[in-house]
Amino acid sequence: MRFLSILASKSCSALKPQAAAFRVFNLRNYSTTHEADLVVIGAGPGGYVASIKAAQMGMKTYNVEKNDTLGGTCLNVGCIPSKALLNNSHYYHMAHSGDLAKRGIEVSGVQLNLEKLMGQKTTAVKQLTGGIAQLFKKNGVVPINGHGCITGPNQVTVTKADGSTEVINTKNIMIATGSEVTPFGGVEIDEETVVSSTGALSLKQVPEKMIVIGAGVIGLELGSVWGRLGADVTAIEFLDTIGGVGIDGEVSKTFQKILTKQGFNFKLGTKVTGASKSGGRISVTTEGVKDGKQETLDCDVLLVCVGRRPYTDGLGLENVGIVRDERGRVPVNGHFQTIVPNIYAIGDCIHGPMLAHKAEDEGIITVEGMLGGHVHIDYNCVPSVVYTHPEVAWVGKAEEDLKKEGVEYKVGKFPFMANSRAKTNNETDGFVKVLADKQTDRVLGTHIIGPGAGELINEAVLAMEYGASAEDVARVCHAHPTCAEALREANLAAFCGKPINF
Ligand SMILES: Cc1cc2nc3c(=O)[nH]c(=O)nc-3n(C[C@H](O)[C@H](O)[C@H](O)COP(=O)(O)OP(=O)(O)OC[C@H]3O[C@@H](n4cnc5c(N)ncnc54)[C@H](O)[C@@H]3O)c2cc1C
Repeated sequence: MRFLSILASKSCSALKPQAAAFRVFNLRNYSTTHEADLVVIGAGPGGYVASIKAAQMGMKTYNVEKNDTLGGTCLNVGCIPSKALLNNSHYYHMAHSGDLAKRGIEVSGVQLNLEKLMGQKTTAVKQLTGGIAQLFKKNGVVPINGHGCITGPNQVTVTKADGSTEVINTKNIMIATGSEVTPFGGVEIDEETVVSSTGALSLKQVPEKMIVIGAGVIGLELGSVWGRLGADVTAIEFLDTIGGVGIDGEVSKTFQKILTKQGFNFKLGTKVTGASKSGGRISVTTEGVKDGKQETLDCDVLLVCVGRRPYTDGLGLENVGIVRDERGRVPVNGHFQTIVPNIYAIGDCIHGPMLAHKAEDEGIITVEGMLGGHVHIDYNCVPSVVYTHPEVAWVGKAEEDLKKEGVEYKVGKFPFMANSRAKTNNETDGFVKVLADKQTDRVLGTHIIGPGAGELINEAVLAMEYGASAEDVARVCHAHPTCAEALREANLAAFCGKPINF
């Protein structure tokens, strides 16, 4: 059944201007209506996973996504393409830097085919985003491509590319609209030479000199990619440490040393005061945070990586009285309900770390909560990973947190240098560090820098979720030879102070 649009009376400010004009002047601007149990706005890892879960639990579920492909930031311009580039640039670096030769594999004429390297990334992204469409089909989620706007507590109106609208009347709404790149004052991003993470995933040639503003997770990952491919990379960071929020201080220092050895340059305790383009070069002016010392650096590509901010443009929050907090986030309670009880929000657009797995978990428990299930997430057990080489991963408290909180703790450390698998693989940089409660031995935090840290950390997360002690982990039989034995040994060291192999 088709109706003339009822949208005009509601505010959906970010709708495309051409679509709005179409709505006013063209009588073909009809609106289709649907009935739903749940409308999820956004098909990033939070929204798509929540949609599938809801459909699996019997809810008539619609998913509204404005992009042409599903998967949100994570699959299109985030986790997935960055990891494809990290993986393949690492192989190139191994061949090119002589690492393979040291292992007795002598290759000559190693050449970079950047187009092909980008092509593999694009194939991975295509396959994975296409996979979500298949999963929607399999589970009975109805996808609608267009910009979703909340036009009432029980209504979402979708404006499609051709200007037509679809109205979905629904019992529940889930906002999963994610985040966008935070701009940097005075630096205009053109995604060609002055790029955000999005542009840095698709550069057409390897820069000669790249400056990265921000030595957080994304800056270090993308800086590593281009450094391995041949760029001279300098990261400028306001803080005195690298790796962003939550990283353990000792790990951060080791991380910086290892990356510096790989050729990464750092200017810490330094703020960028401006950038200007001239004759194909970019001049970046900086100032020392403590001494005010001014400097000018130049580069051919400037990567702005100062964080991300919640994205809720044109969502119609004002139509239902939802007011964003001071950081632009959608406020929610412990059940992920906004002030309108049947409108929920999850993922990057609410509080907490901006991570795909955090968004996914919130999506699932929110849906379960709608149907009467328990809603619980322990943010202390959400792991963080930096997918550089070596990888860095952590969960729980850093040593600095425990000191600040006045918690008495024990430290158990084990170096990968003493781990048999790391030795066989010639990947011995780094260590595992376990922090356990001094009285109870309960694991409070685990910090890993070393081979496969991003995989190993999941065992530590499991231990923390189940309230394990360091002794518990140390008594679990671990396969040999594996890097996971280093985690076991670090737990043994935390428990009784005496690892076996070190
Ligand atoms: C370069 C980079 C690398 C990253 N690497 C990692 C990593 O390795 N691991 C990790 O955990 N995280 C990583 N992240 C972060 C991760 O991508 C995000 O935390 C995650 O995507 C958040 O998921 P989300 O579902 O909340 O939002 P998003 O993925 O941002 O998805 C939101 C979706 O909502 C859509 N949308 C917004 N408004 C509307 C509307 N009104 N109507 C219809 N659709 C709308 C958007 O188009 C988008 O598709 C990375 C991010 C970047 C940028």
